[in-house]
Amino acid sequence: MRFEGKTALVTGASRGIGKAIAKALAAEGAMVIVNYNGSQEAAEQTVTEIQAEGGQAVSYGCSVADSEAVEAMMKQIIADHGRLDILVNNAGITRDNLILKMKEEDFDAVLNTNLKGVFHTCRYVARQMLKQKSGCIVNISSISGVMGNAGQTNYAASKAGVIGFTKSLARELASREIRVNAIAPGFIETEMTDKLSQAALDAGKGQIPFGRFGKAQEVAKAVCFLASEDASYITGQVLHVDGGMGM
Ligand code: NAP
Repeated sequence: MRFEGKTALVTGASRGIGKAIAKALAAEGAMVIVNYNGSQEAAEQTVTEIQAEGGQAVSYGCSVADSEAVEAMMKQIIADHGRLDILVNNAGITRDNLILKMKEEDFDAVLNTNLKGVFHTCRYVARQMLKQKSGCIVNISSISGVMGNAGQTNYAASKAGVIGFTKSLARELASREIRVNAIAPGFIETEMTDKLSQAALDAGKGQIPFGRFGKAQEVAKAVCFLASEDASYITGQVLHVDGGMGM
């Protein structure tokens, strides 16, 4: 059990990749806070599934895009659990469109959730982890942030921003060995990719050397590695979990 006695917060854990990460951390002993925005029922289902498998979890609703709500959530987590050992910034949205059709509100919404949300949680958690003199952060970026993707200027900018943010924060926290890494998933089968057209899915699959989409559990395993002592000398890195798409 790599995470026995540790408390972990996974943002956007009501479904998809976040749910798989929450379940994987809990299966290895972590007490997991399952964050969600609107999907309370789904988040409670994640908690129920974790508990049914013998793990520990609670849910906490709050938009990561809302700075004050994030601060309130963090204060509550520290009040309830005394510490936070692992932060996984997974919450993310898409509002895809070509640049000529991209609305400012869609650009802002994606940046506010995907990038500013990471700032909101890390700003608070960094202070707590420095006080604890331990902790680690894993940010979920995307292969779109590495390679770019037509129709995703907003999303790719937010995910490239997460990579720059991760490397900068890793440098800021390195003297205390608080590790900050990112994962860049490729196409992973979730509700987010369910929204894509068949043409976009076929085109995407054609770019993947493995010739298949990834599973949320395959991202979760990489998160568990980076969050564990097995990765004790790794910081500021971007691990691609993409079937070779971005190599
Ligand atoms: P998903 O199935 O759409 O799930 C997104 C999760 O984020 C949901 O739990 C959602 O909860 C939560 N969320 C959205 N806005 C939020 C907010 N403002 N505050 C808190 N939670 C919020 O997406 P996914 O495919 O699992 O993606 C998870 C992460 O991986 C995202 O960061 C995504 O960009 C990244 N990623 C995904 C893929 C892929 O192919 N699927 C590839 C690369 C990167 P509510 O429903 O409660 O809002």
